Amino acid sequence: MSKIQWTDVTDNPIHLIKPDGKHGGHWCKKISPGCANCYAEAQNQKPFYGWASMRPYTGNRPTLFLLNLDILNSWSRQRAPKKHFVCSMTDLFGDWVATEWQFEIFDAMVAAPKQTFQVLTKRPQIALKSIEEYCQINGLEKLPSNIWVGVSVESQQYADERIPVLFQVPAHIRFLSVEPLLEQVFLPLENISWVIVGGESGSHARLCRVEWIQSVVNQCQKSGVPVFVKQLGARSSITLQDSKGGDISEFPKSLQVRNFPKLKVEV
Ligand code: SF4
Repeated sequence: MSKIQWTDVTDNPIHLIKPDGKHGGHWCKKISPGCANCYAEAQNQKPFYGWASMRPYTGNRPTLFLLNLDILNSWSRQRAPKKHFVCSMTDLFGDWVATEWQFEIFDAMVAAPKQTFQVLTKRPQIALKSIEEYCQINGLEKLPSNIWVGVSVESQQYADERIPVLFQVPAHIRFLSVEPLLEQVFLPLENISWVIVGGESGSHARLCRVEWIQSVVNQCQKSGVPVFVKQLGARSSITLQDSKGGDISEFPKSLQVRNFPKLKVEV
């Protein structure tokens, strides 16, 4: 099970491969201020994990990548329904990821309708192009409802840039991960099925004011959008015992909200 409260498991079919054929860690490219303290990069730099490549998430892409077909093939065999956060250690829509790999991943998701797949990106333009092309090739109007597509938003600038592109993505469930929340944001919420919100964790966490989180919760509730308050962050404006500010019992009552999208959708 994942420690990320809004999913059940994380699956990373794209990773590096070492010369001896073993798992060689992960890579992604930082793209905006929300990436500054990327947890995936931090994990990838810990020798504790035998697979860690120790590469920073900057510079040019490494040459050795592997699309792990075992992970993809396992999805349709799984009986118990689970939520899978796919590519939690990178961005499926990075410009270093071949479109054919994205399509192979979609194919495996489509073949596993009992499973729910959560795909999150900071590159919605590439996601839009890829998903439109996939739907066109496969005669689909939209991705099936077990594939949720979301964008990460950390500030007003990126809300304004990324959310309008997400609106155009042909998916039944479009969602926002407003994390790490770095300032007050106002979100356009039409056609958004779900919002996750939270402050930053880690030793370099930046300030997150509870009023900013409260504002997101209020906006969602006013618009009838399910909202999931993940954590108040390691540097909250209120004092908390939990190091990530993720213990819901410590949240102000009005922020003790962890809802999921309504799954009754047109198919
Ligand atoms: S897009 Fe995500 S995984 Fe990639 S560097 Fe940014 S925070 Fe890390």
